Order: sequence, then structure tokens, then C-alpha cells
Amino acid sequence: MIDTVADMASVQSRSGGPCVLVPTMGALHAGHVALIERARTLAGKEGRVVVSIFVNPTQFGPKEDLDAYPRPLQRDLEKCEAADADIVFHPASSDVYATDRSVTVSENSLSKLLCGASRPGHFDGVCTIVLKLFNIIRPDIAVFGKKDYQQLAIIRRFVRDLNVPVEIVGVETVREPGGLAKSSRNVYLTDAERAQAPILRAVLLETAAAAAAGQTNTDVLRQSALRALRQRATLGTIDYVEIVDADSLQQISEIGHSSLMALAVFFGTTRLIDNIELAPA
Ligand code: AMP
Repeated sequence: MIDTVADMASVQSRSGGPCVLVPTMGALHAGHVALIERARTLAGKEGRVVVSIFVNPTQFGPKEDLDAYPRPLQRDLEKCEAADADIVFHPASSDVYATDRSVTVSENSLSKLLCGASRPGHFDGVCTIVLKLFNIIRPDIAVFGKKDYQQLAIIRRFVRDLNVPVEIVGVETVREPGGLAKSSRNVYLTDAERAQAPILRAVLLETAAAAAAGQTNTDVLRQSALRALRQRATLGTIDYVEIVDADSLQQISEIGHSSLMALAVFFGTTRLIDNIELAPA
């Protein structure tokens, strides 16, 4: 493990293969492991896989769970080793951020939608830490999960708009047997909430099936999904259900070839997100 910015920045690049970064906040589960395994494949034997574990304070809102966020470091290190990562980078917050910092990366379109609407500043925090990690680690490739689809779309946009020389790779969502997307925050759910949480995935699949069967009107699809969630996920409070273009995240009226349904539902104070790519018949 490397735990200072200076030590990480002084690691020499390898000539044989790419450096592949997997940024995480730790509390690693099978979703993160799938990202590390993809990174290993991309890096090959000669390249290097770096997993960063950093609970980034600037992406948490004042009422969010920064202090409570789980930090099982020893177990995380074992998982990284088992998945064949070469380096775990785990810096202290005080080492990453100067107290008088005054420069951030700000994305001003996609960040205002979906999760960004209820988490102001969140994606600026994400873009800023990702750029800092890129500058410290200098990866050739960085791997992100499609579970956080909006985050992936924003990072693709920021890499494009700022000519950041890193290739971005997206990895499919890893799920529990019942369909619930794996998340470090699932540990907050009560048994009753956990029993209802798979309904999110079920509703997404039903919507995708309706779209594939020929229903292209997004208003009809969205209303039907909202109804199903209200009836079946009775412990949940819907934050949003939207059908959007998968690149721009703007709402669309008809399903096209790059469409996405994304949703967020609160169970108590735990906010679960999920999404599915929709294709017309
Ligand atoms: P986090 O530690 O929650 O910041 O997530 C670190 C990375 O893991 C992000 O790129 C996430 O999209 C990805 N990730 C989280 N959960 C999953 C999952 N269930 N399947 C695939 N990737 C995931």
C-alpha cells in the first residue's frame, strides 16, 4: 500500500504495458472486484493496476454520510490482493487537499440533472478528485462502473472537454442474486428495506421489456414505472425516475438507440440508484 501523494507520484511508469487506475472509496464488494479484474485484463502481465481507496470529502453534501461511510481497510487490502492489483493508493485527506485550495473542476450541464439535482456540488467533487488522481498516478486507462452511469457520462465529458489523456472504460453493474445492484451503502438497509430493494431492478427490466416490445413513448414508460414503484416499493420514497439520452443525459420523448432509464429511491436515509439501457424494438 502507498499512503502518501509524494510516494505515489514518484512511482516510475512501466514500459511494458499500460497503467490502469480503478478509483474507489473502499468498502469493496464484488462490483469493485469486477472493475479491478477488468483493469488487470487491460493492463496485462506487464502493465500496472492501481486501486485508489479514498473517501473523498468534497463529493459529500453537508448532510450526507461522510463520517459514517464504512472504512474496512484491512478487508479491502485483502480483496485488492486477491484480484491481483499491483498498488493500493490510500492517502489521507489532509495530504490530498490543501486547506486553502481554491481550484476545482466544474461540469455545468450533465451534473445538474438526475442525481446532481439533489446533490449540488457532488459531481464537481468527483471530477476534481478524479483529475487529481489522474495527475498523481498518471494512468493510461481508468475504469468506472455503469452503476454510477451519470458519473461515468460526466467523466467521459470532462476527459473530452479538457483533453485529458486517459482512456475511460465502463464496466457492467454487478448485482446481488435478487437483482439489487451491489453498493457499499446496502449495509445501511434494514431487512424489510433490503427485501423491497430488488423491486428497483425488476421495474427497470419491465420497462426495458416494454420498450423492446414496441412502446417507444417515454412518458408512457415512465408513468408505468412510477406506478409500479409506488405500488410495490412501499418503503421507498422516489427521488427521480427519468428516461434520458445516454450521452447528454437530457430527457427524451421517444426511445432511441442510445437511451437510458435511471432512477433513485430513498429507503430511509439510504439512497439507492440503478439504471438500464433501453433499446427500441
Ligand atoms: P465507489 O467506491 O462507490 O465510489 O465506487 C467506485 C467504483 O466502483 C465506481 O466506478 C462505481 O461505479 C463502481 N461500482 C460501484 N458499485 C458497483 C457495482 N455494483 N457494479 C459495478 N461497478 C460498481
